[in-house]
Amino acid sequence: MQQKPKLLIVYTGGTIGMINDPKTGQLISFDFNHIYHHVPELERLNVQLETVSFEIPVDSSEMNPLLWKEIAEMIHLNYDNYDGFVVLHGSDTMAYTASALSFMLQNLSKPVILTGSQLPIGTIRTDGKENLITAIEIAASKNSQGESIVKEVAVYFEYSLYRGNRSSKVSANQFEAFSSPNYPELAVAGVEIDYNLERLLVPKKEGLKLFTNFENHVALLKIFPGFAANVYKNLFDIHQVKGIIMETFGAGNAPSSDDFRQLIGTYIQNGGIVLNITQCSSGSVQQGKYETSSFFDKIGVISGKDMTTETAIAKMMYLLGSESSKEEILKKLPISLVGELSE
Ligand code: ASP
Repeated sequence: MQQKPKLLIVYTGGTIGMINDPKTGQLISFDFNHIYHHVPELERLNVQLETVSFEIPVDSSEMNPLLWKEIAEMIHLNYDNYDGFVVLHGSDTMAYTASALSFMLQNLSKPVILTGSQLPIGTIRTDGKENLITAIEIAASKNSQGESIVKEVAVYFEYSLYRGNRSSKVSANQFEAFSSPNYPELAVAGVEIDYNLERLLVPKKEGLKLFTNFENHVALLKIFPGFAANVYKNLFDIHQVKGIIMETFGAGNAPSSDDFRQLIGTYIQNGGIVLNITQCSSGSVQQGKYETSSFFDKIGVISGKDMTTETAIAKMMYLLGSESSKEEILKKLPISLVGELSE
């Protein structure tokens, strides 16, 4: 008889595992083992489930590189003993964690599926049950050669599977809370789970590699009409900020004020790294298409193409933390390392 796939559920916190505190009326995390009580269907699935939990589950607003490291290490440590991994995580920063994990766990040959919910699992209308059960099914799915179908970090939410580093949270109240504007869904769950096989990541043969160093001295600057560059003077200080992600207009455009140009030019000359992504929810930066962005090309701003903000931040932190030379960082920022951008 074929062995049931063995999965590890990593519980980090988030609404899916929260209950209403009757005293304060606020949502607080509860003991993860109660999940079985609320989802008895888990016992009937054709998988062996084991769980590991953060000692103190967190609202995902509390996530940070140290907690990302904890998740990545839990998976790395248990990698050979399981067929796949489901990470239960608050939806608010799930796209950031999924992006970070895609850089931390490279060349996966097994699925790492993040999911969560908008309503706690104990609520009658919860979306958590379906999300959890289907995420488990995806994490356990194998092809006819016995290999995992999904070999990457992905987010499953409301009938769709997205590449983790292409996903963003787009709604605070709809069950359909995620989207992947620049990359098609990896799978859609209907009567059957329909995988978009051609779009799944093909890992390198080198085997799993773990990276856990992140440099968090980075900044995110969203440009807006009338913004006074001088207000941001301290941001362009290389001693404080090693890399800046700049969210610009449309295809990568920004105001051409002398103040701004001087700040950004001096910062780059002093060793700073600036990555240009669009504040539009879909589409790509095309530096040099307009006069208002050709200046960026001249001074060495890097085009982030169609990366999401979440991925741009995770990638900047990852490269600053793992590469010792600036040249290498500049080379790797605009190319796809783990399927995070379209070339
Ligand atoms: N605040 C919660 C969190 O991100 C929301 C959720 O889980 O959906 O942890």
